[in-house]
Amino acid sequence: YTRYGNPTVQAFEEAVASLEGAESALAFGSGMGAISATVLALCSSGDHIVAQRQLYGGTLFFLQSVCPRFGIEVTLVDAAEPGAFGAAVRPGRTMLVLAESPSNPRLALADLAELGAIRGPFTVVDSTFATPMLQRPLDHGVSLVLHSATKALAGHNDATIGVIAGATDLLDAIWGYATLHGSVASPFDAWNALRGIRTLGVRIERMSSTATTLAHHLAAHPAVAEVCYPGLDSHPQHALAARQMTGGGSMFSLDLHGGEAAAHRLLRNLELVRVATSLGGPDTLMCHPASTTHAGLEAPLQELIGVTPGL
Ligand SMILES: *Cc1c(COP(=O)(O)O)cnc(C)c1O
Repeated sequence: YTRYGNPTVQAFEEAVASLEGAESALAFGSGMGAISATVLALCSSGDHIVAQRQLYGGTLFFLQSVCPRFGIEVTLVDAAEPGAFGAAVRPGRTMLVLAESPSNPRLALADLAELGAIRGPFTVVDSTFATPMLQRPLDHGVSLVLHSATKALAGHNDATIGVIAGATDLLDAIWGYATLHGSVASPFDAWNALRGIRTLGVRIERMSSTATTLAHHLAAHPAVAEVCYPGLDSHPQHALAARQMTGGGSMFSLDLHGGEAAAHRLLRNLELVRVATSLGGPDTLMCHPASTTHAGLEAPLQELIGVTPGL
């Protein structure tokens, strides 16, 4: 019965586990399915979560809107500040430390070794932007690595699927809740994702080299205030990127001098690049986070996490 397990989904899980150097993996119906099921499987009323404030919009919205309804308290920290995660942990109360590296949309990094050294709470890294080709969070000692496999893992914009990987006993405990949560992966999407994984290595290599070329070019453009890309020397955490990643990845963001008007003018005038909110597929895509992926957040939080009008 597929809500409990399925051989095609298992083949996908085994492939991800092997790429991440994990004992096991567990697939979900989407990246958000993986995130929400993991949080609700591990946390109860009265528990505390430490989360990076630079997060995918859906994750941040979940932590801000759903968790308080269940009495789960969330503290947001700046991933770029050394020691911030550990300092926010409340011994005996913090159940989960949640990070995303590189982060959507400003490519902030969380120090994986620092996260791996935290004792007590479970540590989770959303590694969607890096894929297992560029970093392996479990090698640094974190408890779980998570992906929206909808993106580069499946890689063809034709699957919606999420996955977590880590130790078998922890995944078994999460599975017990996940079968009731119900956001299970469909075998067809798992099959598409498995097909994507077969070419992941060459796709990431090519996407990273294209992103590097574009990031260098745009960083020198007079209309561009800032390019955020871990592969550029100008990235504030470039040294950390060099320590924990084997490449800059396929994603970068740019902040335009002209603010929101300039951003929309750029989107209207694109010829080759398509305007859409996804990543990791065969097309080069561009989006305006403030009005799409991060539109659900209040203006002060958008500003705090760097989702500026010109990004
Ligand atoms: C897209 C994305 C998600 C959510 O994944 P879905 O498959 O759309 O549910 C989570 N984290 C990151 C970093 C993402 O880019």
